[in-house]
Amino acid sequence: MSVRVRFAPSPTGPLHIGGLRTALYNYLFAKKNGGKFLLRIEDTDQYRKVEGSENYIIEALKWCDLRPDEGPLLGGKTGPYRQSERKKIYEEHIDMLIRKGKAYYAFDSAETLSKARLIADEKKTTLKYGAHNRLEFKNSLSYTSEKTKALLETTAFVVRLKVDPKKNVEMIDKIRGSIGVQGSEIDDKILIKADGMPTYHFANVVDDHLMGITHVIRGEEWLPSLALHQLIYDAFGWHAPIFMHLPLILKPQGKGKLSKRDGEKMGFPVYPLEWEGSKGFKERGFLPEALVNYLALLGWNPGTEKEIFSFPELQQIFDTDKIKKGGAKFDFDKAKWVNHKFIELTDEKTIFSRFIEFTDCLPYKWSEKKRTYAYALVKKRLFLLEDLISESRVFLADPDGYDPEVLKKVKEHEPQKIILQFIDYAKKEIPVKEWKEKIKVWNEDHNVPFGVIMQSLRLALVGNLSGPDVFDICFITGNTITLRRLEKFLSQLN
Ligand code: GLU
Repeated sequence: MSVRVRFAPSPTGPLHIGGLRTALYNYLFAKKNGGKFLLRIEDTDQYRKVEGSENYIIEALKWCDLRPDEGPLLGGKTGPYRQSERKKIYEEHIDMLIRKGKAYYAFDSAETLSKARLIADEKKTTLKYGAHNRLEFKNSLSYTSEKTKALLETTAFVVRLKVDPKKNVEMIDKIRGSIGVQGSEIDDKILIKADGMPTYHFANVVDDHLMGITHVIRGEEWLPSLALHQLIYDAFGWHAPIFMHLPLILKPQGKGKLSKRDGEKMGFPVYPLEWEGSKGFKERGFLPEALVNYLALLGWNPGTEKEIFSFPELQQIFDTDKIKKGGAKFDFDKAKWVNHKFIELTDEKTIFSRFIEFTDCLPYKWSEKKRTYAYALVKKRLFLLEDLISESRVFLADPDGYDPEVLKKVKEHEPQKIILQFIDYAKKEIPVKEWKEKIKVWNEDHNVPFGVIMQSLRLALVGNLSGPDVFDICFITGNTITLRRLEKFLSQLN
């Protein structure tokens, strides 16, 4: 049987990186096994739907090149792929369960249920609607079929799963092993809500079955629902897919799940793309292939020391046996390091064509060659493409001050003399590539430590000791600007 997996987000907000990792693992698993990757939008909860989030999810997957083989935009043989468009399918399927005696109608009002809850609270228990008390409520098991029929015409109702308390529910999670739950621990969960829409659990199981899903790979937060899902499969007499519940993505520090607030507090993104004004990985200057590489490693281990993988490589080596059980701590520095490696590996031309929003800080009035050269000079220093803006300042803006420590040090060696030499070269328009040799010759009579010469020049041009090679900076900025910076520094020294 060929592999079919799905990513099934609910459009209740932007996709966070946990969701993106789930999509990625599904995608890699499908590709590794020559299978299909489906996108299904689980939008049965009309109240939690957030405008724009379906589109966001689709765009985020596209940015990361996680292209579904079937989904709401492309269609496919098991569509529609939006649950809100599958209502009829759920109606047919709930009828099947009711006819089999595996589900039943319940007419209890909200007041009845909250009263029952209060009583349970007083007894310090929680209300469980199930075998031990279901006949005390208003439902098609406690009423005659005539009464039920009449009520169906006039009263709001839900449909509940009839759980057998004696049943031992057995499940296998491929990451965690076998899990057993006693039926008595599960209540008669609602499958169809009063608005006629299915609950997440019911729609999820019906769709996974009808879409031929062979493996369900999803977040650990769904593990507590697994027994209920297994019961629904059993009620239909269907074979359940293989389940894998992925470890949580944890906060960088402390305990618990990574949240949007952690990102806000510590200044890192948690969404792939911008959402409501807060920047995503894309806007901070991540290469999507770097984010994909980092997320692949967040909860999975290739089993070697290697940490940088191309996307095709990941598709070849991804192995679900190496998915970790324990939570994975999010580490933004590590993510940036991976991005840095990808920046190093990506040629200038590609960067200039794919990431214009960052490279356009290098002036277009410069020649193509000069822009590319300037980028190449700072590229080693970039962890995020947004760093290009600060790193290219050395070419674009005169220093707005001089590092006092360095200034103090070079002042011990009469830097005026040194700067005057460079001013002389600039005025005479001596090509920058000859400056180093010339200053060495000059220094034969002056004996200034060569480091001090270079530091003086760098201080004049940059204001501190950072940045690429000073002669390269002169080359990029050109004679006029170099001269202006040297003279400004000289007047400061005097
Ligand atoms: N709609 C669920 C979610 O938003 C999907 C859970 C699953 O994959 O079964 O996470």
